[in-house]
Amino acid sequence: MGDALATYFEAKACQDSNATSCAGGTITTAAITLAKACYDTLIEEGLKAKLAVENNAVTDAVEKIIEANTLLSGMGFESGGLAGAHAIHNGLTAIKECHHLYHGEKVAFGTLTQLVLENADEDLLDEVVGFCMDVGLPTTFADMGIEKVDKDALMEAATLAAAPTDTCGNEPVEITPQKVYDAMIAADAIGRYYKGL
Ligand SMILES: [Zn+2]
Repeated sequence: MGDALATYFEAKACQDSNATSCAGGTITTAAITLAKACYDTLIEEGLKAKLAVENNAVTDAVEKIIEANTLLSGMGFESGGLAGAHAIHNGLTAIKECHHLYHGEKVAFGTLTQLVLENADEDLLDEVVGFCMDVGLPTTFADMGIEKVDKDALMEAATLAAAPTDTCGNEPVEITPQKVYDAMIAADAIGRYYKGL
């Protein structure tokens, strides 16, 4: 669900910046519609599906999340594109404390960071952070195992994420290593705020 969380926001960023899709074309209305259906399904069914799966139960919510995570996210990504969330995921792979994390866990924090870069409104942040907390996806450095932030390591991750060879350039805003660094710091602060830390 962490990977699927990024699909709509990355496709939207690619559309807003006129980026080329992963399939090599322009972003179609169909791609954005599938990606939005993916996001809406996560918000509506994610918590129910998680609780069911944790108790070895298969419910309608689980079936809907499987469709969102595989079909909707897969087609939304292929016909949409990648942007900040996956670039930040790639940057986080340089931080040793993050090595144990699943792909989707790093992408979830990457999504939150992307939303900070795009200066998303509070209602949207509220929804995304609330979802992550409900289903157990990381919203803070501590959630990812980073107990004490090493500024140099974080800047290395931000520099990797902002590299021209990665997909942060598909964001509709100016990207620099410093902006990505600051967005990660702010994303962690937002996560801690919601946790009351
Ligand atoms: Zn992914």
